[in-house]
Amino acid sequence: MRAEGIVMEFEPVIGLEVHAQLLTNSKLFCGCSTRFGAPPNSNTCPVCLGLPGALPALNRKAVTLAVRSALALGCAVNPTSIFARKNYFYPDLPKGYQISQYDRPLGQHGRVEVCSGERTAAGQIVNRRKKIFRITRLHMEEDAGKSLHEGLPDSDRKSYVDLNRSGVPLAEIVSEPDFRSSQEAYDYLTHLRKTLLYLGVCDGNMEEGSLRCDANVSVRPKGSDAFGTKVEIKNLNSFRFVQRALDYEIERQARVLAEGGRIYQETRLWDEVKESTFPMRSKEEAHDYRYFPEPDLLPLKLQPAWIEEMERTLPELPHAREERFVTEYDLSHEDAMLLTSIPAVADYFEECARNSGNPRAAANWAVGDLTYALKASGKEIEESPVSARELGVLIRTIDSGEISGKIAKTVFEEMFRSGEGSAPVIRRLGLVQISDEPALLGVIEKVKAANPRQLADYRSGKDKLFGYFVGQVMKETQGQANPKVLNELLQKALRE
Ligand SMILES: [Zn+2]
Repeated sequence: MRAEGIVMEFEPVIGLEVHAQLLTNSKLFCGCSTRFGAPPNSNTCPVCLGLPGALPALNRKAVTLAVRSALALGCAVNPTSIFARKNYFYPDLPKGYQISQYDRPLGQHGRVEVCSGERTAAGQIVNRRKKIFRITRLHMEEDAGKSLHEGLPDSDRKSYVDLNRSGVPLAEIVSEPDFRSSQEAYDYLTHLRKTLLYLGVCDGNMEEGSLRCDANVSVRPKGSDAFGTKVEIKNLNSFRFVQRALDYEIERQARVLAEGGRIYQETRLWDEVKESTFPMRSKEEAHDYRYFPEPDLLPLKLQPAWIEEMERTLPELPHAREERFVTEYDLSHEDAMLLTSIPAVADYFEECARNSGNPRAAANWAVGDLTYALKASGKEIEESPVSARELGVLIRTIDSGEISGKIAKTVFEEMFRSGEGSAPVIRRLGLVQISDEPALLGVIEKVKAANPRQLADYRSGKDKLFGYFVGQVMKETQGQANPKVLNELLQKALRE
């Protein structure tokens, strides 16, 4: 493909800015609720409406969550950070400025180690490699409100403002331009989201806007050290969109440059329907925000002992847990990655692995049948009708030979449907595996008598027919014959 050839001659340089909503009940500088989905403008007060004379008071919980995030991302936490006013005019910004942090942010100079690699269609990771991505800064700021538009621009357009989001606490996490492919950007974002979920500092819900991402991207001829002109992409509602938008933009810029054109510094929006980016209309960049220290808030001073305490009490982070799953339970990287994507899933797996004494099987059930059943019923793992303990019991029942793996699937489905344990389900459905030799021999004789031609063929050397006989016995016993016992008996009986 022509476009691909052009892209190959250029190297993309990507930086990411992520806004994560901190999981507090109240806003950053007032007591209003942060609950999503409340009636418009119901979660507001003089502070977050920007009424004259109202004074902000900093939310302690938000600071704690931001500090935990900064530490987990390897940032140095500044003992003193300063809130600053970022001045700009926008209808959903009632004060005319946003309280943010500027030259003295909460955290700086972070780094994360991320496993990156291309995915095959089957989800396997190839060219797996560890990469260090640097984090420039993590600072706290308040969110703006939300404008809603009705009708088309330039016609009879109506606009509304909802200020429920105004003042909601955010951590903005800015990376260095360290990503050299859209896949690396995707892997970093996945890592970041996972980390924030593990810390319990953000719910990671992109649809509700609690995690948002803007990307900066430029391209340069391969081998060059200079940076090209960068374009900012906004309106990216999922990590897949980030990846697609970057791919589109990298190709667009490479093509423009290859044809002798030039790239303009601009903000572009991603159109998920057209799968392309387009220049943002009428919002000039080159903002002069005229930052200055927020006079209504004192500098934020943190005791070094408290910061150390926060660092000491960080939970096991996803990357460490993933590595541990690989070594401790002998899992593949893909399974370890899937199982650690959500802390509750990782907890479930570990409890099941302990209870079953068979971590491999626990992993297979957790990423297989359990995940499917949860998806199909729209349930979260916390609501699973089959507990980790009960799934462990089921796995032990299989490993002891009491039921076959095939029957176990039926048992699991019934456990999931009814919420019962495996033992009552097996009893109720009469699904205990037949390991009793005389009983199985009886069935084998019956099958032999009913298939004289196949028996003769088998005896004359058609070994493949063995499977046919296994199938017939399974059919007779409704799948309940113990495969191992059946195999041994059948080997002998067919020769006799
Ligand atoms: Zn308020």
